[in-house]
Amino acid sequence: MTPDSSRPTQPDRIARLEELAGDLWWSWHLEARAVFRRLDYALWRATAHNPLRMLRLIAREKLDAAAADPAFLEIYDRAIAALDAARGAHNTWWANTVPQLRGQTIAYFSAEFALHQSLPIYAGGLGVLAGDHCKEASDLGVPLVGVGFMYPQGYFHQHISADGWQEESYERLSWEDAPIERALTPEGQPCITAVPIGDRSVLVEVWRVRLGRVTLYLLDTNLDENAPWDRELSARLYGGDRETRIQQEIILGIGGVRALKALGIEPGVFHLNEGHAGFVVLQRIRDLIEDGSSFDDALAEIRKTTMFTTHTPVPAGHDAFAFSLVEKHLAGAWGTLGEHRDRFLQLGAYDNGSGMQFNMTALAIRSAGSTNAVSELHGEVTRAMFAPMWPDVPEAERPVSFVTNGVHVPTWIAPDVGDLFTKYLGAGWIDRHDDPSMWDGVLAIPDEELWTVRQGLRRYLFAFIRERARQRWVEERVGIPRVVAAGTLLDPDVLTLGFARRFTGYKRPELVFHDPDRLARILNAAGRPVQIIFAGKSHPADDVGKHHLQRVYKRALDPQFGGRIAFVDDYDLHVAHFLVQGCDVWLNNPRKPLEASGTSGMKAAINGVPHLSIGDGWWAEGFTGANGWVIDGHAPADNPDAVDAADADALYRLLEEDVVPAFYDRDRANVPHRWMATVKEAIRTVSPRFSARRMVKEYAQRMYSPALERNIKSEV
Ligand SMILES: *Cc1c(COP(=O)(O)O)cnc(C)c1O
Repeated sequence: MTPDSSRPTQPDRIARLEELAGDLWWSWHLEARAVFRRLDYALWRATAHNPLRMLRLIAREKLDAAAADPAFLEIYDRAIAALDAARGAHNTWWANTVPQLRGQTIAYFSAEFALHQSLPIYAGGLGVLAGDHCKEASDLGVPLVGVGFMYPQGYFHQHISADGWQEESYERLSWEDAPIERALTPEGQPCITAVPIGDRSVLVEVWRVRLGRVTLYLLDTNLDENAPWDRELSARLYGGDRETRIQQEIILGIGGVRALKALGIEPGVFHLNEGHAGFVVLQRIRDLIEDGSSFDDALAEIRKTTMFTTHTPVPAGHDAFAFSLVEKHLAGAWGTLGEHRDRFLQLGAYDNGSGMQFNMTALAIRSAGSTNAVSELHGEVTRAMFAPMWPDVPEAERPVSFVTNGVHVPTWIAPDVGDLFTKYLGAGWIDRHDDPSMWDGVLAIPDEELWTVRQGLRRYLFAFIRERARQRWVEERVGIPRVVAAGTLLDPDVLTLGFARRFTGYKRPELVFHDPDRLARILNAAGRPVQIIFAGKSHPADDVGKHHLQRVYKRALDPQFGGRIAFVDDYDLHVAHFLVQGCDVWLNNPRKPLEASGTSGMKAAINGVPHLSIGDGWWAEGFTGANGWVIDGHAPADNPDAVDAADADALYRLLEEDVVPAFYDRDRANVPHRWMATVKEAIRTVSPRFSARRMVKEYAQRMYSPALERNIKSEV
């Protein structure tokens, strides 16, 4: 595969436009986004904010005009200067905090990274978390390199049929429009490494993504030299069967370690984001044994320098393979580790109720020096769920800590909200955004001003939804009911709830329809109506999830709800931005305690969209009593039907008695002051604590730097 550079060259004066577009740093810096917006606003929108694609399609006259426009040049120069400053900075938080760790590197492995819609190598929450982690590491100067997959067909696009069934289609990535380039070895050669799978060798090419100070390396098996089936191994994210999955994980773990070596990178710490990357430890133990270590010494060494983050309290979410499958595909990978094969396989042995299997989470827990969950509650659940791992250890002492997830504030904050912060918190707010005391300044924002911004964001959302509906109508000639279901009848002045996430059973997407008549009364109340926007994909193999989705879609088609329920298809980062910024309330009602953390509610809250949620995941820590609402029907957990009924009743009551009145109680200028108090509390309390800045600093201080310090000492 070759990304060909068919973009026309730019006029000399703005010759670094392509460089700016080629570093995703642009995507979270307003001064850089302004460059592309201003260059050709229609094209910016038409390409879903993909500047590389813009530069390929833009008319030469526009570039020439820009190069001669002093106002444009001022913006351009400012953005280029900021990019250079970011790349060259020596006084980052990391450099100032741990100057003795100069030159050290942390490798962060993840099967998906959600960085921008122009690089569709993510499915959902896990990818968003990894992407936000890398961006924040870049901002803080944490010397991180990411390792993941270049999926040429990415994750699927979702179409909803007339009767609400999810249809999946895969599009080949248009390489020339994606922010990737070939990774080069220290000798300047393309980086290609061989990975043993079964009795053959699969070649893996490495691509590079620039994220300011952080680099992400992506592995790709689509090389001419590989057999056709091996070329397909990295084609799709979570696309194949168990055989494909284990081979992908071998490539990520073993291939990732080999690729870093070929690139001349020697990480001092390996951070495994979820168990998918567990085979990293196989290659590392093997390397140490080759250098003369015993198995036990090698394992001890690996433990000092490996950290593992686990992400799901749903047992089926933990990858496990039959031993025969593992033996088959690892056959060529053992090398000198071969004589300790049984000891290695023991590291993954775990019975999660369906017999003894090779479990990637067990492997990671047993070979990492630290394991953490992604919220406090998820920590408790993990200690209980993996109890057999530590037969003699009391629950509270089991070695699983937690680092609660956070979101990358510059990525998720709406520019209009950011402008208000600049005005009331000061121009440097973004540099201090994990300081809780700074956020008290939010209380000084006049209600009218914040309300005007909130109204504006709701309007942007509806303009976006309406354009999508128009496209379906014009291009696909869908029938009128589907145009309604796409959100055409939504009213830009009405209280709007958002529900967007993967459609799967434990997230209970249909809970709000538990009593359809009561819901219809709430939605259609004269003078105080409510509307709900749904979005989200179901995993292609999850038929239960697809049936949930279908039934929700049918509600959107049902006139009983007055066109006040919409389903926005093909949820991705782009759609997510509009939804978390433009709704009024973010709804989340998983079956407790199955939501490890959740992050979309954090994205919403920092934009002044309060959370209406079960007290699960991050919300168990985040709810203060004044910054949103907790849905709790107080039914005993052992009876799921009773829990659903009680939770639905609690949800309706919150809407009827609290949420709706607060939103519609207005003063003479039509400002809802009671509502704004909740909005401000959401922003004030959630932004610092649930930021990726707080999260990455925690990882850095509690895990990365202590491990790196030990390395340095043991080398002396
Ligand atoms: C944030 C986000 C998610 C994760 O949302 P949860 O609330 O954690 O389920 C999934 N998909 C996209 C596109 C997102 O932006």
